[in-house]
Amino acid sequence: MEKYDCIVIGAGPAGLSATLTLGRARRKVTIFDNGTNRNRVTQESHGFLTREGIKPQEFKNIAMKELKSYPSVSISNETVIEVNKDDQNDLFLIKSSNNKTYITEKILLATGIQEEFPLTQIRQYYGKSLFSCPYCDGWELRDKPLAIIAENDEHIIHMTKLVFNWSKDLIVFTNGHQLFNKVRNDFESKKIKVYTDVIEDLHGDNGNLESIELESGDNILRSGGFVVPSFYRPNKFAEQLNCQFDKNGGIITDGAGRTTANGIYIAGETEKAESSSLIIASADGNKAASSINMDITLDRF
Ligand SMILES: Cc1cc2nc3c(=O)[nH]c(=O)nc-3n(C[C@H](O)[C@H](O)[C@H](O)COP(=O)(O)OP(=O)(O)OC[C@H]3O[C@@H](n4cnc5c(N)ncnc54)[C@H](O)[C@@H]3O)c2cc1C
Repeated sequence: MEKYDCIVIGAGPAGLSATLTLGRARRKVTIFDNGTNRNRVTQESHGFLTREGIKPQEFKNIAMKELKSYPSVSISNETVIEVNKDDQNDLFLIKSSNNKTYITEKILLATGIQEEFPLTQIRQYYGKSLFSCPYCDGWELRDKPLAIIAENDEHIIHMTKLVFNWSKDLIVFTNGHQLFNKVRNDFESKKIKVYTDVIEDLHGDNGNLESIELESGDNILRSGGFVVPSFYRPNKFAEQLNCQFDKNGGIITDGAGRTTANGIYIAGETEKAESSSLIIASADGNKAASSINMDITLDRF
């Protein structure tokens, strides 16, 4: 069976950027992807210098095309379902959804994160009129009547203050969470209304939010907004490979992609299970690839 220098799991910006660097360093690498990148729901990406407004799929297509110029790189559109250590040979075995097994010296985990929303209906509007990152989508929603949907004090305060920079026409929906009077007063002094009622439903057309219906029966007009989801990793690979975690659930690294498990590297949003951005995830991938290449170089020199 062929042995890879590195298998990269995940072709978001983190995995793609790492694979480019590894391909250019003449490493035999294959990159797996199953098309569940978090930003697949959005129409345009912003803030990545030279690629302003690009569609997520186009960003990926360009990156894939660039990878194809390096002969030691291969691309596999399959889901990785199992990762195991072969302790005897100091190698890893990777099983994919089509039941093939791959052998590799190093693994880069770049599988990103996924969102969980306070209300399932948010999914229909997410990426079209409801977003979670004001730096990514605040400009397009500027000066519009916006909703902030969040369910704990810290998230509500942070997101409301931040989004106030892009629109002064804000209404906060806490979906049943009671806010301290001081916070309510602060918001109301800026003409930001707060509804603590449970949200009954969202209304709109084709992903474009029009109103938010409360349990009280009130239907509040809003044309978009920001939500605070919770994030989780889509797999347990880091646990299965014995990576260590910090008290916040982040995977402990040396700051350059090396985890505490020998041969296992990490890049992108999956490291801390927090949202970041295309450019930061790309930089993480680049950094982790340099670590992987350096470690292989020193092992073999
Ligand atoms: C609605 C929305 C809008 C956004 N807009 C912007 C924006 O305008 N600008 C910006 O900079 N950022 C934006 N982001 C954030 C950006 O998408 C992320 O920061 C970035 O994609 C994180 O990169 P990543 O490589 O860590 O993870 P991802 O891009 O999520 O990639 C992870 C990859 O791993 C693959 N994968 C996962 N598990 C497996 C498995 N078992 N086997 C095989 N493959 C697997 C998935 O298919 C996926 O492609 C937005 C996000 C969302 C949700």
